[in-house]
Formats: sequence, structure tokens, C-alpha cells
Amino acid sequence: MLLDAPGRPLRAANVPRPAPGPGQLLLQVHACGVCRTDLHVADGELPDPKLPLVLGHEIVGTVVEIGPPTLAGHFASAGTAGGPAASRSAMPEAPVSVGDRVGVPWLGWTCGACPFCRSGRENLCDRARFTGYHLDGGYAEFAVADRRYCFPIPASFPDREAAPLLCAGLIGWRSLCAAGPAERLGIYGFGAAAHIVAQVARWQGRRLFAFTRPGDEKARRFALDLGAEWAGDSDRPPPEVLDAAIIFAPAGPLLPAALRATAKGGTVVCAGIHMSDIPSFPYQILWGERVVRSVANLTRKDGEEFLALAPKVPVRTEIEPFPLGEANAALDQLRAGEVRGAAVLSP
Ligand SMILES: [Zn+2]
Ligand SMILES: [Zn+2]
Repeated sequence: MLLDAPGRPLRAANVPRPAPGPGQLLLQVHACGVCRTDLHVADGELPDPKLPLVLGHEIVGTVVEIGPPTLAGHFASAGTAGGPAASRSAMPEAPVSVGDRVGVPWLGWTCGACPFCRSGRENLCDRARFTGYHLDGGYAEFAVADRRYCFPIPASFPDREAAPLLCAGLIGWRSLCAAGPAERLGIYGFGAAAHIVAQVARWQGRRLFAFTRPGDEKARRFALDLGAEWAGDSDRPPPEVLDAAIIFAPAGPLLPAALRATAKGGTVVCAGIHMSDIPSFPYQILWGERVVRSVANLTRKDGEEFLALAPKVPVRTEIEPFPLGEANAALDQLRAGEVRGAAVLSP
């Protein structure tokens, strides 16, 4: 399914099967999650996507072909020191075989050499390339991916149920860590990421307060089903003050609302890649050492941590399956807030 230009529906197209370049895997796609970021790309809210583009960065697939080794991989496997550039960008290439099931996340490539990459913050790399944005993604029967950025998928998750772990799960996990050790946690926007974070937060023993679109009774009930002790309209205050809040919905006015609901010293985390403008607010609601921060992208360490944790909780993802050819319908339903849990495409 190709995006020819932002603002246009995706188009079903027959394209050549991609060939895996050095260090890449060719995957047969079994499932690909539909993320709100896909909507931001399709709607033109994120600048300069590759065009035409295959969206999708929650890919679960089987390795059908392994590209030739990279120079860095060659040096690593030969036990020889590569040049400085090669050795820095070379995370050792984990063994992978044809037939293995792997997941491909949003982070598709980083430079390995910049100050961010060298300080464990590859999520902030200025030269990073992202799956389904700068690189073709998983709304397709086949996809290629740099093997260093792929994750093994925990065996207990079927393909479609595993797909939402790869962005909703990983970004949710990073956001939860950024919220700090808060007991009373507020979640604004109860979609794919929130429904996973809620399970992990409850498992950690936190108390959960869910804020949903005013009047969205289905989302409210969904949050209560997943262990929220209170769920209510996002324009109302919670019954108790929060210790931290995570905002998944892309609506700027939620930020001052969350600050007002959060206790002194608490953190408000903005987890989305795009948000409408934040209205001005009185300094008083930030005062008291409240912290506002965003979470951007993911590191491979986030992925390893979360995918090890997910089977222990165990996280149960709730999905709405769509055939690949109905990707536009899946995007429309996500835009309308009509998806319970995560929409997942299957070729
Ligand atoms: Zn970098
Ligand atoms: Zn995503």
C-alpha cells in the first residue's frame, strides 16, 4: 500500500520485491501495526517523508533472505578491529537465520558516531532514519530492514498480537520510565500505547487514572477493564491529585490540564511525535518543581528491556485485524478514535 503524497489515500500497488542490501534482512510480513504516527505522516504533519512510501513501523515477519555482511559486520565477525567509524556503528550483528521471526520498530538506522549515539541516546540521533517514514515499512507483503535494529519476538505472542508491542509498547515503556516512580499515574488518551502501558503500570503496583475524550464511553470502559481505578473525561479533574501523567493524545490543551492535575515534583510526559499547539498557562501550575518533558523515538535498549518484560507481565494486546488492502479503512478508524486497542494489518 503506497503513499504517493501526504493527504492522499494509500494506493494498492504491485512493486518489485525489495532486495536486502548489506546488513539487511528481507522479511515476509505477517502483521504490521497501525500507529498514530502513520496518520501524522499520511496527513503531512511530519516533514519530508520518503515518497512514494510504504508506511508501517510495527512489523512482525519471518526472515526469508539475509543480505551480504556489512564492512563493519565483517570486521566484527572476523574478530578484527574495524576503522573508527566502522567500530562505532557496529553493534555486533546478532546471529539470525532464515526462518527466524523478528520485529522491526520505528528506529531503522542511526549514525553511531554523533554525540547522541555515543552517549546511549541514539533515539535523538540527528541523522536517524525511521521505518515507514524515511525507509519503506510494513504495509506490504515484504520488507527489508537493517538487522541491527530488528528484535526477536517473544514466542508467547502470536504475530498480530506482537505487532503493537513494537511501537505502542516500546514508546509506552519509555514514557512510563520517564514518568518516574509515580504511584498515582494519569494517562491521557486511551489508545494502543495506553492499553499496554496500563497493564505494565498495574503490574508494577501503580494506581491508574485514565482520561478519555469527553463523552467517549467505550474508551472509558476499556480503561476500567484494563485496571484503571478511575476513568473520566479529559476536561475534568481526577478525584485525586496525580504523581505523574503521560499524554498520548496529540492535543496541546491536555498539557496544562495535566499540569493542573499533577502534584508538586511530578512529571508530565508528552509521548507523541506531534501535538497541536499548547495554550499559554500560568507559571503557578508549573511551579513546585513540576517537570514537563517529551519522549522521542526509542533506543534499542528500550526494545530489549520491554520485549523481555512483556511476557512476564504478561501484556495482552487487544487488536482489531484488517486485511492489508483495507489499510485506508484502518487509518480512518484510528483517526475517528474507533479502534479498541490497536489496529493491525495482515497481508
Ligand atoms: Zn547519531
Ligand atoms: Zn508508532
